[in-house]
Amino acid sequence: MQGTGDRLVIRNIGLMLSGMMEQPILDADCVIAEGGRIAKIGRADEVDTGESDVVVDARGVTLAPGLIDSHVHPVVGDYTPRQQQLHWIDSTLNGGVTTMISAGEVHMPGRPKDIVGLKAMAIAAQRWYENARPSGVKVLAGAPVIEHGMEEQDFKDLADAGVTLMGEVGLGSVKDGPTARKMVDWARKYGIQSTIHTGGPSIPGSGLIDKDVVLEAATDVVGHINGGHSALPDDQIVCICESCRTGLEIVHNGNERAALLTLNTARELKQLDRVILGTDGPAGSGVQPLGILRMIAMLSSLGNLAAESAVCLATGNTARMRDLDVGILEEGRAADFVLMDQAQHAPGKTILESIELGNLPGVGMTVIDGVVRTGRSRNTPPAQRLPGIVSV
Ligand SMILES: [Zn+2]
Repeated sequence: MQGTGDRLVIRNIGLMLSGMMEQPILDADCVIAEGGRIAKIGRADEVDTGESDVVVDARGVTLAPGLIDSHVHPVVGDYTPRQQQLHWIDSTLNGGVTTMISAGEVHMPGRPKDIVGLKAMAIAAQRWYENARPSGVKVLAGAPVIEHGMEEQDFKDLADAGVTLMGEVGLGSVKDGPTARKMVDWARKYGIQSTIHTGGPSIPGSGLIDKDVVLEAATDVVGHINGGHSALPDDQIVCICESCRTGLEIVHNGNERAALLTLNTARELKQLDRVILGTDGPAGSGVQPLGILRMIAMLSSLGNLAAESAVCLATGNTARMRDLDVGILEEGRAADFVLMDQAQHAPGKTILESIELGNLPGVGMTVIDGVVRTGRSRNTPPAQRLPGIVSV
């Protein structure tokens, strides 16, 4: 970790990706952060680059907002009991992800299913990730899995205690549309965002959620519309895309053909701003440290989506859908960045063309709240060029 977050200058940026679908590339080569927030974006000769705690020479690489994983299942600290792995969040930071959103802490052994117990665990999980961020990664957690018997007062209690997310509908006992809808409405009334498990059962014990339940529940995000793992039939996926205006979340841990169907349907509807990316890790497929980068490369290459737009699916789209202050290069937002370059020996004339050919970029640095968190990634293929700290 380098710097206090007071004032950070990153100059000599070769390409700046904004995270915004409507203007994915910015005409700028320098970013200044103050107090952990973006203070200025511009050309080095136009902005004041003096008097800084840390100066980073990007050496011509690409800077994008830190990536957001819209769908993870954390439990406690940087450990997952699901696959018995330590440091999976740190590994994912090495894949450019600086913010993770919990879809429920469902892998906790002995997870309480009684109402007072599930509320207590959600509040505790929100606290322990707020109080101790693994490697600096923002893990937005404390997402209760709803069960039959919950009343409006329970959602008020959760919201009053600082809970802002609901776990995937369908992972608990509530799997029917009317009950889900009633509880989603209560959650929404108190400012709690909701998502739903879409598709066949993920592991023994979970259940099918089809298009009728998804549409009736009317959650804020259609969680893993491409299944986690088993996707709904194509006609049901298209129907969900056409019948609502909520977020369409595609995950690494799902069906890739269904992911492309969702992308193409959203594009035909001219609603690509609804598409957001997650991994659903750690799940049956395990921890996926490069899962978000892999989704970007897969959707860009097989889905014929410009690489700079594909990055928006994992940054600005998610930030807007979920009302986060990250994910977009804009003055006033959190100074969370990933610096990356074309991977060594990857085909393509530029980093963007290389991604469009299906290759992963190499991550050279991550920054969270204006503080340098990692240097050259230990997980991505090595980048051609690496940014460096030139003065501290
Ligand atoms: Zn799920």
